[in-house]
Amino acid sequence: MSHVTLSVDQVRDLAARCLAGNGCDDANAAAVADTITRAEADGCASHGLFRLPGYVASLRSGKVNGAARPRVEAIAPAVLRVDGDGGYAPLAHERSREPIAAMARESGVAAVALVNTHHFAALWAEVEPLAEMGLVAMAMTAYKPAMAPFGAREPLFGTNPMAFGFPRGGGAPPMVFDQASAAMARGEVMIAARDGHDLPPGVGLDRDGKPSTDPNAVLEGVMLPFGGYKGSAIAMMVELLCAGLIGERFSFEAAQADNNDGGPPRGGEFILAMDPDRFGDASWHDHAETFFARYAALDGARLPGARRHAKRAKLARSGVRVPADLHDRIQALCAGPA
Ligand code: NDP
Repeated sequence: MSHVTLSVDQVRDLAARCLAGNGCDDANAAAVADTITRAEADGCASHGLFRLPGYVASLRSGKVNGAARPRVEAIAPAVLRVDGDGGYAPLAHERSREPIAAMARESGVAAVALVNTHHFAALWAEVEPLAEMGLVAMAMTAYKPAMAPFGAREPLFGTNPMAFGFPRGGGAPPMVFDQASAAMARGEVMIAARDGHDLPPGVGLDRDGKPSTDPNAVLEGVMLPFGGYKGSAIAMMVELLCAGLIGERFSFEAAQADNNDGGPPRGGEFILAMDPDRFGDASWHDHAETFFARYAALDGARLPGARRHAKRAKLARSGVRVPADLHDRIQALCAGPA
């Protein structure tokens, strides 16, 4: 497969131009382009430019509001409701970040119900900025059914990712993990199908319910949770927080309402931010660092996020390799609908 190499700034420009050419206003195009760029810059191809054709499809079909103006409202002392106005999630994240931080500093905790939005991205982009602001943060979102509950062969859950961030001292980046509750993110399965790679065992079943390592067979069949019934329970929790608690669509409801244009369905996101200075231990920072020091001393262990940060440093110098056919496709999409 041939590639083109783009600088991080070129990725951002390309993504913003493509989104603007297909119905996003400047604010939405810049916010989504930033999310795409951060994925590429951290070596996460499955949530970078690879997603742009899906974003464009949902703009062209009219499913997503490219001129969304998210509204942020405090509906309880520690609950913010953010209405995404039918747009993509990144602008809602940008507009709600300061209010979330202010509420967490005031109340100790801020729970966010993000509704009426379309999420198509990696979740660390939500929690990392909050952790950089000194907050402990969690985020989770659902999608459309792609994964079976443990023991079943029919999809009910999205791949339902969850991210967690904890602030660090001494100039270290916050500890952030971000993981699907599926054995592998669906985007990674799609990349394996595109690139002709087998999957590791345990990722999914084919359409007959038999275990398969063929990514195309798993995409036609069903994905499995990580860790058996334990990952299945986490995926269920994500559905209940992102739909049951906040009044948005469960994955199965999102699928029923979706037009299947290739872009993200409407759904919800649950975010929790906590101010560690309000939990009663003035030495929390130093205490947590003793834990991280123990962790770092263990042979073979590395912190989640370490690979991403290493990639960030490397790709900032080398640029990002993008498959040439994807680059050509995006260039063609920039011209807008025929
Ligand atoms: P991975 O399995 O690749 O990684 C999950 C986490 O584990 C990362 O934080 C990773 O850190 C960490 N990790 C991996 N290997 C190790 C190791 N050896 N030691 C310590 N930590 C490790 O991610 P997934 O495939 O589960 O998810 C990929 C992305 O897809 C996520 O960003 C997720 O948000 C996104 N996604 C989005 C969905 C949506 O609907 N919007 C749906 C599902 C997934 P590191 O990155 O440094 O390797």
